Amino acid sequence: MNISDKSKMRKAATQELNERKAQILSTLPSMDHMIHGSLITRAIKCGKPNCRCVTGDGHKSLYLSSFYHGQTGMDYVPAAWEPWIREGMKNYEAIKELLLELTELNLELFRRRKKE
Ligand SMILES: [Zn+2]
Repeated sequence: MNISDKSKMRKAATQELNERKAQILSTLPSMDHMIHGSLITRAIKCGKPNCRCVTGDGHKSLYLSSFYHGQTGMDYVPAAWEPWIREGMKNYEAIKELLLELTELNLELFRRRKKE
């Protein structure tokens, strides 16, 4: 069932809304591995006069950019950790979307005054 768009949610039976809620709650990804941020590739010239980077783009490194307490953080991500970071970011995006849908379902149920 897909009741993610507004008009479908309005028309859906209350039972359908509750079923979708149960479905969301049973498919939430792991909450213990979530990363909020974005990956940025930086190219840095090392400064060695004979290095290949003198004429090219520089040495590329991956960084995780994050924002907490009003400050942007920039953390170097070693290649071996990239999949772990990406997985955490994927989990965060999935949770965020599911929470949004869950809160919309709750709002619709509240509008119908069908709180359990
Ligand atoms: Zn270099």
